[in-house]
Amino acid sequence: MTRLLLALFLTAVALAAKGPVYVVLWFDTEDYIEPAADDAALRIATDLEKLGVRATFKVVGEKARVLESRGRRDVIRALARHDIGYHSNYHSIQPTPALYLRSMGWLDGAAEFERRERPGVDDIKRIFGVMPSCYGQPGSSWGPQSCRALLRMGIPVYLDEGEQVGLNDQPFWFGGMLHVFGMGRYIVRPALNDESLLPHTFEKFDRAAEELEARGGGVISTYFHPTEFVTTAFWDMNFAKGANPERSAWKNPPRRTAEDSERCYRILVRYVEHAKTRASVRFVTARDLPLLYQSALGRVTDRARIARQLAERQTFLDTDAGALSASEMLQALLGMEPAAVEGPVARGETTYRGNEIPRAPFERAKTEAAGFIRASRRLPADVWVGSEKLSLADFAATLGADDGASATVAVRKGNPEMEKYISTDASGSFKWPIHPDGFAAPQLLDLARLQAWTLKPARLK
Ligand SMILES: [Zn+2]
Repeated sequence: MTRLLLALFLTAVALAAKGPVYVVLWFDTEDYIEPAADDAALRIATDLEKLGVRATFKVVGEKARVLESRGRRDVIRALARHDIGYHSNYHSIQPTPALYLRSMGWLDGAAEFERRERPGVDDIKRIFGVMPSCYGQPGSSWGPQSCRALLRMGIPVYLDEGEQVGLNDQPFWFGGMLHVFGMGRYIVRPALNDESLLPHTFEKFDRAAEELEARGGGVISTYFHPTEFVTTAFWDMNFAKGANPERSAWKNPPRRTAEDSERCYRILVRYVEHAKTRASVRFVTARDLPLLYQSALGRVTDRARIARQLAERQTFLDTDAGALSASEMLQALLGMEPAAVEGPVARGETTYRGNEIPRAPFERAKTEAAGFIRASRRLPADVWVGSEKLSLADFAATLGADDGASATVAVRKGNPEMEKYISTDASGSFKWPIHPDGFAAPQLLDLARLQAWTLKPARLK
């Protein structure tokens, strides 16, 4: 008896020690051409409800309007019992976001994204009766300016997949938004076309879950498109390679047979059933994520360590007390209470020629930098020292190495290590059949590198 109790106790301890595995199951609900995709969304929402699981349906604005005009209140109601996100206003109609954002900067790009996307957000609110919990870009048509616009529209979570930015295959903060993006080995997606591969997917899921349990918990990301369950090719091939056909010329995608579709639905159900067998697994929606993760602002506890790191390399600092972005670290060293501010709009350049800066002008430069950050809620691209400048990275390194007392401050070269989390593949990262042939967007990756000042891992509460 004692032995049995001990065994039970040890099992309980082992279970309690395992971190929670949060499965974010999301559906890009985007096909506004093929009406069968409406039924697919309804079927998936209903199947999952029966399993007691809530998913996140990221709905395209035009899809929501089409559901309304087709009188599909049944679909709208079924989806609204899950979580509703946003997946752009028109998805693949040209120009897609990366195409028009590529030639724009941070501020004008954000304004243009908001101008184009706000009507879609408003329609989602009107039709589903909720503010979308998250956004994710159509295809790989990603642009960092969307973060500024989405926060202004009240959308706090970025839920999608892509290669442009990523941090250790787990959620992170970037541009002020909580991201589930670039999830690498923690993306688990059963293949809908071959049920015999399911055991292999279960193994992959179990491996990912075990790893996350062992490190205190984390997220597995699983996604589909309702249209995939009823068609054999994507609905938006109408817009392939930049094509711009009139509505009357749009062609419906090829359909799966009814039997084929049943297999797809069954694969999804079997996958969810398998996931549910693990004690550590909880299905969560995009709306749950900000409640599960610590807030964007970290706590400053060790200024000396912050200074040491900023002097050597500008990147986030992950400590037991929480994670700090390079932006928060810089603000802390400037004597500010770290706030959620944006990265610089441009890459500054150092024109200061000396190796040292006298104490008084350096202190003035610090006051100037803090004043700029407070006033514009953004980091400066560079910091004036009299008539010359230090780039933000050089200024941060110089500030980090300063002892705060000596008569002169040695100028140090910046080392923006945080930029390594941004893709350098300007064509591969934007590969998508809908983009014009040969599309590349190095400008958007450059802008992302500047916003990497705000990058840091998200920490579970
Ligand atoms: Zn999509």
